[in-house]
Amino acid sequence: MSSTKPGWKEIPIAGIPFKSALEYKTGTWRSFKPIIDDKKCVRCLLCWLYCPDDSFIIKWSEDGKRPKQVLVNYEYCKGCGICSTVCPTKAITMIPEGEEQ
Ligand code: SF4
Ligand code: SF4
Repeated sequence: MSSTKPGWKEIPIAGIPFKSALEYKTGTWRSFKPIIDDKKCVRCLLCWLYCPDDSFIIKWSEDGKRPKQVLVNYEYCKGCGICSTVCPTKAITMIPEGEEQ
């Protein structure tokens, strides 16, 4: 019995997770925006671990052994607020989009 379904190489770009997702900048969907207070951040990276959109940028120390700064990639962040909920030091505040601090 032959299959009429396309192979994975024929699947349109939106049907392939991970790498192709980089081409779809989903930050415009957001109505709330996470703001990180760098003074409260202890670099635990829980926000990075739990973010469903992989929307964190980690800057590493020179030797690459410890995180130096945690930033949000607003091109992809959809504003779900999970990072704010899991942050143990309450370093992330969700504010309405367009309402910069
Ligand atoms: S979860 Fe909070 S404390 Fe931990 S790295 Fe993220 S912003 Fe910093
Ligand atoms: S608000 Fe949601 S999508 Fe945006 S950085 Fe936090 S966890 Fe990721």
